[in-house]
Amino acid sequence: HASNRTIAEKDVDSVLHPYTNLKRHPEVGPLVITRGQGVRVYDEAGRDYIEGLAGLWCTSLGWGEERLVEAAARQMRQLPFYHLFSHKTHDVGVELCARLLAMAPVPMSKVFLAGSGSEANDTAIKLIHYRANALGTPDKKKIIAREKAYHGVTVATASLTGLVNNQRSFDLPIPGVLRAACPHHYRFAKDGESEEDFSTRLAGELEAMILAEGPDTVAAFFAEPVMGAGGVIVPPAGYFPKIQAVLDRYDVLLVVDEVICGFGRTGKMFGTETFGIRPDMMTLAKGLSSGYAPISALMVNERVYGPVAEESGRIGVFGHGYTYGGHPVSAAVALETLNIYAERDILAQVAEVGPVLQDGLRALRGHPLVGEARGVGLIGAVELVADKANRAPFPPELAVGARVVAKAQAKGVILRAMGDAVAFAPPLVISKADIAEMLRRFGLALDEAHGELGRG
Ligand code: PMP
Repeated sequence: HASNRTIAEKDVDSVLHPYTNLKRHPEVGPLVITRGQGVRVYDEAGRDYIEGLAGLWCTSLGWGEERLVEAAARQMRQLPFYHLFSHKTHDVGVELCARLLAMAPVPMSKVFLAGSGSEANDTAIKLIHYRANALGTPDKKKIIAREKAYHGVTVATASLTGLVNNQRSFDLPIPGVLRAACPHHYRFAKDGESEEDFSTRLAGELEAMILAEGPDTVAAFFAEPVMGAGGVIVPPAGYFPKIQAVLDRYDVLLVVDEVICGFGRTGKMFGTETFGIRPDMMTLAKGLSSGYAPISALMVNERVYGPVAEESGRIGVFGHGYTYGGHPVSAAVALETLNIYAERDILAQVAEVGPVLQDGLRALRGHPLVGEARGVGLIGAVELVADKANRAPFPPELAVGARVVAKAQAKGVILRAMGDAVAFAPPLVISKADIAEMLRRFGLALDEAHGELGRG
């Protein structure tokens, strides 16, 4: 049935929209979504859209999952709010932390619950500083993040984020952030450089940077297994082992941001497993609750937790926490989400349908606009280029990615362009038929854009 809420024109204008050209917004107008079912969302007029990005890489179980609704309602009745401060906690929070530790792909000691991916990553940054003070190495606090990384939008996490729009006009980054290269072979490899050589070069550059800065000043390296907002960048197989070896050599912590990759997106439960990484901290959000309630988690190993616990004993408190961190309603929804992942064997589902997405994207390589198709599991992208032979990008002012995505939306599929990379990360529960339909609608949008570009 249609939404029973009608939205007044004037009320639609009341929103300050994130990630929007605020000046142009009145011309473009917002798409007002009123409900969702399965992998589809519906606008005010009742038009349906396949959500090709699971609503910001979030809604892994799709819309209309009654068990999550029930879990939230039960928790609302029983204990709608409690907190985790000052030697207190609540039962669902405890259960969720224990469950996450049991799922961790490498040994982890403790879980800190927060409300968003940014908060979890911000907490990781604060722990890095706190730990350095605890260890009596107050100069070892610099953090390395990569070009095109996305770790959030708080003052500190936006500073790690390696995308210009997250920093431009915000007076960022804050001091103490170092920038490493992005492991996108297609875009950044030298002529004829193999994936292996490219990975070796990036690891060598990382080592040179650590040595130039002084290993006694470098604390941690942040990485998404597959870079999401940077354009779905899948690193070469050899990349992470080589990076990890450098970090190990100089006692640099590895923080793996699993906010997008966690809970099956790359085909394993965590991207950490897909790429054979050994993180000291892992951040989780989005798929943790399938987006039905805001919650995130930071897992830390003993190497991190031990000194932090010592320091808090010395100074009397670990003075950090969010009122809504580990909110009981969100924690209950997260627990039920994890139950559903286990019962429905979400990894088997991704193994079943993931190849349909990956083969479909790779088939688009034949299209005159598509320079590269990449992805793993149920995340992928196509990169649109002006000249396939030399990989030349389109001039940014043509906004080809944004144009294709707008055309796709008109044809009933919601996608997202990062520059001229168009990203795909549908709900994990998507069927093969819906993947095919999503790609068919996208293909029509590509053809239309190609026709227009051809006509100049
Ligand atoms: N890390 C990654 C990899 C993300 O993709 C995002 C959000 N897109 C974040 C962190 C930040 O999460 P949030 O928007 O919940 O603060």
